[in-house]
Amino acid sequence: MSKLGPDLVLDFDRIRRLTIVEGALVNETPLRVGVGREAPLGSPVELAVITMKVNGRRRPYIPGSSLKGVFRSFIEQLARSSYPQLHDPWQFNDVENEEKDGFCVVCAIFGNKQVASHVRIYDAMPQSEPSISIRTGVGINREFQAVEPEVYYTEEFVNPGSKWKFRMDILNIEFPGEGDERSRYLRELFTTLKTVGLQVGARRSVGMGLIKLVDAKYKTYSIVDGALKLIDDGEL
Ligand SMILES: [Zn+2]
Repeated sequence: MSKLGPDLVLDFDRIRRLTIVEGALVNETPLRVGVGREAPLGSPVELAVITMKVNGRRRPYIPGSSLKGVFRSFIEQLARSSYPQLHDPWQFNDVENEEKDGFCVVCAIFGNKQVASHVRIYDAMPQSEPSISIRTGVGINREFQAVEPEVYYTEEFVNPGSKWKFRMDILNIEFPGEGDERSRYLRELFTTLKTVGLQVGARRSVGMGLIKLVDAKYKTYSIVDGALKLIDDGEL
């Protein structure tokens, strides 16, 4: 398995290169990135969409941490097809050994306890007012896996077709170039996001949360004489 050495991964003493990828995410199916089982105080909705207060108004958004989780597990699946011995995220011993043995491609992009992430994924805020629907569902008794007609819940979701502002920063990785293996995985991630899409949030098994990336552009900066200098840009 190819391992990335500390020169490539523990390199945060110096920002040599910064690529900013921007575009829009569109949810093609209903989307709910939830706030968990806990209903917000006074809410008539039990499974609510996560929101953030902007200028005094609550607005739904897709947390960067949710996107990062989806991107990481997608790249993990890609990498596992080349490296069947790739560790799982909960194999803490393998993660701890990476500092001396070299980092796997997934940790070398997304970080782990020892190494900072080489990508930053921002919260995706809606570009316009997203329309939200509420539906009532019939609860499933988890013990008997049977429908209990008496149990109802309400569920909120963002209707398909909403656009969300996307930004991801890529630090010290030669992207979209060919020289760094991590760049190949990131390019595959963006290609998949543009064509097939990836799912985020709840109810993925019934197709919810399918997002696609549109209008993706990148700008790459390098630090020259103490200033950020644009060295490359284009469409993805
Ligand atoms: Zn790793």
